Amino acid sequence: MRSKFSFLVVLLLIMSVTMAFAAGGREAAEEPARLAVATGGTAGVYFPLGGAFANIVSENVDGVTANAESTGASVVNVNLLNNAEVDFALIQNDVAYYAFNGVEMFSDQAPLANLRGFASLYPEVIQIVVNANAGIDSVDDLRGTRVAVGAPGSGTEANARQILAAHGIGYDDIRADFLSFAEAADALRDGNVDAAFVTAGTPTAAVTDVSTTHNVKILSIADDVAASIMADFPFYDQVTIPAGTYRNQDSDVNTVAVLAMMFVRAGLSDDMVYNVAKALFENLDAFSAAHARGGNLTLETATNGMPLDIHPGAARYYAEMGQ
Ligand code: GLU
Repeated sequence: MRSKFSFLVVLLLIMSVTMAFAAGGREAAEEPARLAVATGGTAGVYFPLGGAFANIVSENVDGVTANAESTGASVVNVNLLNNAEVDFALIQNDVAYYAFNGVEMFSDQAPLANLRGFASLYPEVIQIVVNANAGIDSVDDLRGTRVAVGAPGSGTEANARQILAAHGIGYDDIRADFLSFAEAADALRDGNVDAAFVTAGTPTAAVTDVSTTHNVKILSIADDVAASIMADFPFYDQVTIPAGTYRNQDSDVNTVAVLAMMFVRAGLSDDMVYNVAKALFENLDAFSAAHARGGNLTLETATNGMPLDIHPGAARYYAEMGQ
């Protein structure tokens, strides 16, 4: 009886040790050797910069391969990241803040608490591109026209709604088409829309493309309306698109901008995030080679305007670098 009992104790002990090992093994295996990076549409800036980021990580972080994915951009990306379907994501700072705090377009869902900051990148300019022959001289003139307002689940679409609303225009007052940048450029060219909203770093490939083959112009947002937009939504800043950014753009365009940022999921280990940060900042030349706006990233500005907590792995890297 006694020996049977101790046999049982020993068996239980062995089982629990084995299970602990298995759990440890599983935990170690949870650190992915493959990282997924959510970007945006192919005619934007997230896509080339996200691709460069993935290459830098694959080439410089031992045992890790990163892949960039094309997506509908910011709003899609906060959800992918929060659900750990991707590890890193490019997202507008305004959208990340709204998602993390469960406000604005996220007010009907629980806060997306798994988002963490990684690096602040560059201004994303709200570019309202119109067919030059459509008789549209101001945002007010968009009433009654056909407008590409951004891909479904994009930050662009959120910005289009806010900016139109600041002019007293709702989606009922226009024909809103939910198109990616590339689709919007085609639709402008083919005369299927009169205007397109693009929130992206400049120059944006879609705008460059359509402006080389078609007569388009970019609308300014009047100072008083810009001031009221910034009062209602503090993530906007007033910016100028310098004359000559696009073909036939003879004068400066005054508009508003938000910021592009790289975010990371909270569950990725501190060491992994630290190693990715180190790889990125040691290879900024490869990042800026992918698109001019990659050149905006510096160690000194990497945490500027970050709307939520920075991941401890990135924070450790910045602290070590004296930031
Ligand atoms: N900021 C845009 C969005 O979230 C995407 C910009 C890009 O693809 O470069 O809608």
